[in-house]
Amino acid sequence: MKLHEHQAKEIFAKYGIPVPEGRVAFSLKEAKEVAQELGEFPLVVKAQIHCGGRGKAGGVKIVKNMEDLEKAVEGMLGKVLKTFQCPDGKPVSRVWIEKATAIDKEFYLSITLDRSKSKPVIMASSAGGMEIEEIAKENPEAIIIEDIDPELGLMPYQARKLAFKLGLPVKEFSQIALKLYKIYTDLDASLVEINPLVLDKEGKVIALDAKLDLDDNALFRHKDLEEMEDQTQIPELEAEAKKYGLNYIKLNGNIGCMVNGAGLAMATMDIIKLAGGEPANFLDVGGGANVEQIANAFRILMADPDVKAVFINIFGGILRCDRLAQGLVEAGKMVELKVPVVVRMEGTNVDEGKRILSESGMNFINAEDMWDGAKKAVELAGGK
Ligand code: ADP
Ligand code: MG
Repeated sequence: MKLHEHQAKEIFAKYGIPVPEGRVAFSLKEAKEVAQELGEFPLVVKAQIHCGGRGKAGGVKIVKNMEDLEKAVEGMLGKVLKTFQCPDGKPVSRVWIEKATAIDKEFYLSITLDRSKSKPVIMASSAGGMEIEEIAKENPEAIIIEDIDPELGLMPYQARKLAFKLGLPVKEFSQIALKLYKIYTDLDASLVEINPLVLDKEGKVIALDAKLDLDDNALFRHKDLEEMEDQTQIPELEAEAKKYGLNYIKLNGNIGCMVNGAGLAMATMDIIKLAGGEPANFLDVGGGANVEQIANAFRILMADPDVKAVFINIFGGILRCDRLAQGLVEAGKMVELKVPVVVRMEGTNVDEGKRILSESGMNFINAEDMWDGAKKAVELAGGK
């Protein structure tokens, strides 16, 4: 789950990481009030979206007076902001207004999990302001990485080492790094990133941007944070799927997939590609899906206009094939089968499942096995 910059900054401030003084505004009226409260220009107006790259896309504006502030806010609120990270754009329903900082130099700082090392890592660079992927590509030696022993946590000597390498005030930087690690662990984050972390003209170190991604699997421990999620930032079908406990991610192809289990989902996407097609999504109904979930999953797949054929690939274990078939028939009554649906089932009660489908009078296409199903789906979707 992602948080907005302003939410992350509010959390940073609570932990004592220096951030510019600011407030969030949902309307022009609120924005003007915030500007008055903050007292003096220049201020910075920042579109709040779950996406980086706002600066280059006009989503970060420094304003010198009330008139410019109004223009900036009106140019953002209610609009869709496209950045190179989100080419389709995200709706802007709130802006963050903060005091402008006189920047001397920009840095990069983040903590995330390195799965191959099974450890968190802290990454820093004096090439701040740029995306870390760009730095990694063009100037990899400019990124300093310290592995963190999860038993010990980030050690003060490691934070000092980074400060020396970056040439930042040692005490100030170390405190920020240690607090950032505390946020990372306290909140079960998967990523905390400050880009840019800046040294201002007075020699102070300040977080000018803030990114905080949380581990969905730990959200049950953080109900207060879970409630902070801005639903407008999540693609509609993904939000819908979440309501029914389905794991759905939209992809770029035209074959809608419904599978049970993440491993089978991966294998299904692989085999579709092998057959020359492209999956339109990743949809895992989970091991113990019920008829209602199957029906909703199916409805969500059909609601995606990119989907030209559906491939249902289910291994009946806890989710028995007859239950799946019932779910599909229920779903078929609720939504029109606008595109061909290929079904491959294997496992418990498979014969009963096939009987239910064939007697339903609906146009489900039977696949002998996974490879057969993938080929049929690709062909019916018009690929290869
Ligand atoms: P994004 O990463 O989405 O582009 P940032 O918050 O990093 O958005 O802002 C982009 C750039 O705008 C920063 O690199 C910085 O140069 C400038 N900026 C952001 N906030 C401020 C601020 N409070 N004062 C001065 N400049 C700022
Ligand atoms: Mg940034």
